[in-house]
Amino acid sequence: KPIISIRDATRSYRVRKRGTFASYSTVRAVRNVTFDVFPGENFGIVGESGCGKSTLMRLLSRLERPDSGQVLCDGQDITRLSGKGLLKFRRDFQLVLQDPFNSLPPRTAIGAIIEEPLKTHGIARGAELRDRVLSVMREVGLPGTLYDELPLGLSAGQRQRVNVARAMVLEPKVLIMDETLSSLDQTEQFKLLKLFEQLQAQHGLTYVYISHDLAMVRRVCNRVAVMYLGEVVEIADNSRLFFDP
Ligand code: ADP
Ligand code: ADP
Repeated sequence: KPIISIRDATRSYRVRKRGTFASYSTVRAVRNVTFDVFPGENFGIVGESGCGKSTLMRLLSRLERPDSGQVLCDGQDITRLSGKGLLKFRRDFQLVLQDPFNSLPPRTAIGAIIEEPLKTHGIARGAELRDRVLSVMREVGLPGTLYDELPLGLSAGQRQRVNVARAMVLEPKVLIMDETLSSLDQTEQFKLLKLFEQLQAQHGLTYVYISHDLAMVRRVCNRVAVMYLGEVVEIADNSRLFFDP
């Protein structure tokens, strides 16, 4: 049974035409997209810039709703979720983006960054917060001595580990990764991929890797959806990708 099932999803944006005052055209950023992701998979979504990957990411994480079609996560149509159901979805399906600290207050210590989702979801407080944060820090390979440090001094790889810890602290089922590794050098990419493997073995996670980087996606994903101009034009097992007759 799929853990994600997207059915005929379309999302358009109205954009003002260049140089005009009140004339609009419609960009169909995602069109009629359908696929399933199964538990424990490493599912890739790949395509060149502007093909609709980020829009699809926003549909899968309910940052936006499709104009038509369905997005089923864990059997529920997330476009209809609210209240407790939505909170549960937001715990179980975690986004891990490229630039973790873009949207965070700059002078927040690492421990506080990682514990924030636990507070928001009312999962832990007091001494338990610290314990859970330290345990997830250990799991993602961050020394506990960084608990009170600011992210400023961290390497790019360590910063991305903080980002992963922030997602993992909620014990999610799925990580949706949008260009998560794209700004890291090869060595750091390998290290983080190793970490993702360990986390998957430990927690039975499902990964959705979204990237323009075909080589990276081919290396880590068992199945890959290829997007072009808003559409999924091919879904193939990694080994058969682009080799179909
Ligand atoms: P809607 O009003 O249909 O919900 P918006 O137009 O408000 O969607 O866009 C949603 C998000 O996408 C906003 O945060 C906006 O800043 C961002 N955004 C706007 N234009 C673009 C664009 N051309 N490419 C990518 N993101 C954009
Ligand atoms: P990718 O992530 O593959 O680069 P996007 O999903 O960001 O692709 O964009 C797909 C298309 O939709 C592009 O033409 C982009 O300009 C347009 N687009 C995306 N988001 C918005 C938005 N919020 N408002 C207007 N246009 C958008």
